[in-house]
Amino acid sequence: MKEVNFIFVTGGVTSSLGKGIISASLAKLLQSRGYSVTIQKIDPYINIDPGTLNPYEHGECFVTDDGAETDLDLGHYERFLNISTSQANNVTTGRIYQTVINKERKGEYLGKTVQIVPHITDEIKRRIKLLSKQNFDFVITEIGGTVGDIESLPYIEAVRQLKWELEGRSVVIHLTLVPYLSASKELKTKPTQHSVKMLLENGVQPDILVLRTERTLTDDVRNKVAKFCNVSLSSVIESIDVSTIYEVPLLMQNEKLDEAVLRKLNFKIEEQPKLTKWKEIVDKIKNPKITLTIGLVGKYVELPDAYKSINESLLHAGAENDAKPIIKYIHSEQITPETVAEMMKDCDGILVAPGFGHRGIDGKIEAVKYARENNIPFLGICLGMQCAVIEFARNVLNLNNAHSTEMYRNTPFPVIDLMEEQKNIIDMGGTMRLGAYDCNISKDSKAFKAYKKEKIKERHRHRYEFNNNFKTKFEEAGMIATGINPESDLVEIMELTTNDWFVGVQFHPEYKSTVLVPHPIFISFIEASLKNKNKINTKNG
Ligand code: GLN
Repeated sequence: MKEVNFIFVTGGVTSSLGKGIISASLAKLLQSRGYSVTIQKIDPYINIDPGTLNPYEHGECFVTDDGAETDLDLGHYERFLNISTSQANNVTTGRIYQTVINKERKGEYLGKTVQIVPHITDEIKRRIKLLSKQNFDFVITEIGGTVGDIESLPYIEAVRQLKWELEGRSVVIHLTLVPYLSASKELKTKPTQHSVKMLLENGVQPDILVLRTERTLTDDVRNKVAKFCNVSLSSVIESIDVSTIYEVPLLMQNEKLDEAVLRKLNFKIEEQPKLTKWKEIVDKIKNPKITLTIGLVGKYVELPDAYKSINESLLHAGAENDAKPIIKYIHSEQITPETVAEMMKDCDGILVAPGFGHRGIDGKIEAVKYARENNIPFLGICLGMQCAVIEFARNVLNLNNAHSTEMYRNTPFPVIDLMEEQKNIIDMGGTMRLGAYDCNISKDSKAFKAYKKEKIKERHRHRYEFNNNFKTKFEEAGMIATGINPESDLVEIMELTTNDWFVGVQFHPEYKSTVLVPHPIFISFIEASLKNKNKINTKNG
């Protein structure tokens, strides 16, 4: 087995500096040099996973093939690297403590006092090393939170210990902020110095500093940081703001972040990878030939992080079509029969987002009705598909008050209903239908045109399903189940034959779109929306 190298990424000064993007960018650069790389995210909160967290707290919950509900940074890792991650790629304090406490209850500590050091730190180290069993050249571990937080301490301590245990096979990258003070027209390095000092107090000397800045760093600033923070000048890396996150790997290549890492680990540094395809896509994103407007209907629209993977999937699919989707976020609570036309009139395509609970549901159903009646390309994802089913039941099949039993338990027409195996579940965490499931697609469908194959596997995160008792009624009226799970017979895709492009998917295609391999459903949706845009333009012109 080859020797694995560990790269730790910590953050200082403030949160939201983009540790996830820097980690993914570094991984991308190492991957394009031919190394195998994986990334792990450590979240210092007590929740077992972000599955029970409100999007206001934590943005989107990303789901892996193996059904883990994880941090949205794993989405970035997959999109940048074109690899699948798993449960092992996301560790939380909740999981660490749960494991240790379970072991204690089983008597595995043989009467010893169980303590943060060594028991919690040992469990942290075990989780970090777990990934190395899969034969990677590099494991990048991103430590969430900010150095100095009480929650981060055991992780920094684990890094300190690992640095010694790994004898030269580890690198610590510390990400900080260099703010610009407009009053004095200066970039300030003091926050970085203090943050490094804090790491040093915990026994960790960073090897490389990545400085997030809004302005180009002067040589003076770089020299100062190198001198006061005990790193070489070539280990001071600038991370300046860019218009698309997909430019960051190119920026890091210019700054030679990958070379700094390889040098520390005594690797031979070969020629820089060309990243030709990647550069082409970044160029398409930055200089699109055409733009189009996609209305994204949801209840967290003031918080685009809640729909991170959808936003990125639209962008990838746009680039594939030489176009840039401008996402118009439409608050479902503001959509009424009176406002819908005005709110949707400039949308070339309409996407109704996933979600839970009653808030905003009527607006979502209204948005579907508008898309259906005006033949606007429509993509409904998870709850979005369920809304399309409810709308069709009410307005085409005339099933008054048809609903999902999630919103209206005693609806006379439960067209969306709880799965049998979900009925007795009480716990909220990790109990939905999660992860990848098979789906068979019928040949004569929009979905088949998009995927160009009959058997697919897509990721799920929901409790409710289309109620098969109504299937014949729906199909007779033109809403066809074109994707079916072969084992359970559950409906995975619904399409409206009367419209040009109207597709609802019970799964989440957005979790599988990557920069280099955009998702077929999104590509097809953007294609249809572009056609619709041209149609409108021709009509008006
Ligand atoms: N609330 C719906 C369900 O649980 C849809 C979930 C979703 O959109 N992810 O089935």
